[in-house]
Amino acid sequence: MKKSIIILSFCLIGLSCQNPSTALPRIAIAGLAIESSTFSPARTEAAAFHASQGEAVFDRYPFLTADHPNRKRAKWFPTLKGHALPGGQVTRQAYDSLMGITLEMLKQNLPYDGLFFDIHGAMTVEGLADAEGDMINKIRSIVGPQTIISTSMDLHGNVSQQLAQQSDLITCYRMAPHEDALESKQRALENLLDRLEQGLGKPQYKAWIPVPILLPGEQTSTRIEPGKGLYAQVPLVANQEGVTDAAIWMGYPWADEARNHGVIMVTGDQKDKVQQGAEKLAQAFWAARNAFDFVAPTKEFQAALAQALASKKKPFILSDMGDNPTAGGAGDVTWTLRELLNHPDFSEPNGKKLIYASIPGPQLIEQAIEQGIGQRVRAEVGAAVDNRYAPPLMLEGTVTAIHKGDKDAVVEAVVQVGQISVIVTQKRKPYHHLSDFTNLGLDPKNTDIVVVKIGYLVPELYDIRGDWVMALTPGGVDQDLKRLPYKHIQRPIFPLDAAMETPDLGVRWIPQSEKP
Ligand SMILES: [Zn+2]
Repeated sequence: MKKSIIILSFCLIGLSCQNPSTALPRIAIAGLAIESSTFSPARTEAAAFHASQGEAVFDRYPFLTADHPNRKRAKWFPTLKGHALPGGQVTRQAYDSLMGITLEMLKQNLPYDGLFFDIHGAMTVEGLADAEGDMINKIRSIVGPQTIISTSMDLHGNVSQQLAQQSDLITCYRMAPHEDALESKQRALENLLDRLEQGLGKPQYKAWIPVPILLPGEQTSTRIEPGKGLYAQVPLVANQEGVTDAAIWMGYPWADEARNHGVIMVTGDQKDKVQQGAEKLAQAFWAARNAFDFVAPTKEFQAALAQALASKKKPFILSDMGDNPTAGGAGDVTWTLRELLNHPDFSEPNGKKLIYASIPGPQLIEQAIEQGIGQRVRAEVGAAVDNRYAPPLMLEGTVTAIHKGDKDAVVEAVVQVGQISVIVTQKRKPYHHLSDFTNLGLDPKNTDIVVVKIGYLVPELYDIRGDWVMALTPGGVDQDLKRLPYKHIQRPIFPLDAAMETPDLGVRWIPQSEKP
């Protein structure tokens, strides 16, 4: 960023710009983002990506709006950008159709100086072992070897050598929860713009270090140590002269693929700085491995519920972790809701009040719309996708709210059963914001217990918590990785092979991108 300001000031005072060409750089935008579990029976179809095409893609980026200075720094060619909620594997048909549109659109405006590749990095597609590697190979084969591709990722993504090679610039978030998501995407884009404007081309060095660690996000939040201190070292490496960017990927544990493990990457033009920075981060990551632990007290569900019922703190938040849709759970496991509905305390007239967020139940939603607020409904909910732990649940109660128009849920209703307010949705939806509750007439701050299909709490819920326990409930994103039937991840890996020897944490130099 600093460099571009200097160049801009040269231009303003009438000296010649360092930009070798006076024409604006031509930059394309593309990318599909999802994290998808191979341990879930769910499948993800194309519609789940809510793909935008052409000009509509700009709406996703506050740093690319019509009046933002970045918009004038290049001639833009947005193609297709999609972002789905985490889920099961993407069907081959969905992937092929979305990639088909992307590649066709890319062909229309060749050549490009740059391409902003905005992905998550943990997409699994039926029949592909490295979906993002395949995606960037296909893009590279259209745009050619000269185009500078700047890849922006989630820190829970995976960086195969293939993806590392075809990405000329690459970075990821530095915070979990991802409060810096937009900031990271902006950095990826501005690094690209800066290098193009300055005629610097691709960074000369790309250091890649695989770190054989695979942990759930619930143990690696950057809110607390050791994640906090580890990620605090990233900007110290990245901000050095001669270094373009630095990043630590935690990887994604709920897909069984060889590329899933921790990775360090540093890019830049000064070889020694790039190497030292990457090796320092890799050693720090490895040294911290035994200190990673769940970010909140973690208990079996019955113990967690007993603690919540005995507590005077409001709201007592229980994470229903095993079916967390934001990690790739189906989001429709009924196991936890069944336990709650069967619990006698919640049918007492003066019992504790509880909000359950949430369970999909399209049949019940239909009834609620037909009957209206204040009326009784009775229909099966949940377990349409993941019925491995409990069957669909017959839910009977009074409708207290109906809300239409949510992007994910489409229609939501609240059904009151005893002291429990059950949020039922037409399609699955994660409940992360206070407005998700208040839109439904619910007041989570003043409710005794709030149960959410989530792992670590997102900021708005974290800030209102009276207390919080993460419950080890069953589902497609089981937090006990030792219970998962891995066959393809590289072994040994921590913590599955805890007694392993110190791995090689030296730099692997990644060659420049080339036509695949
Ligand atoms: Zn993430």
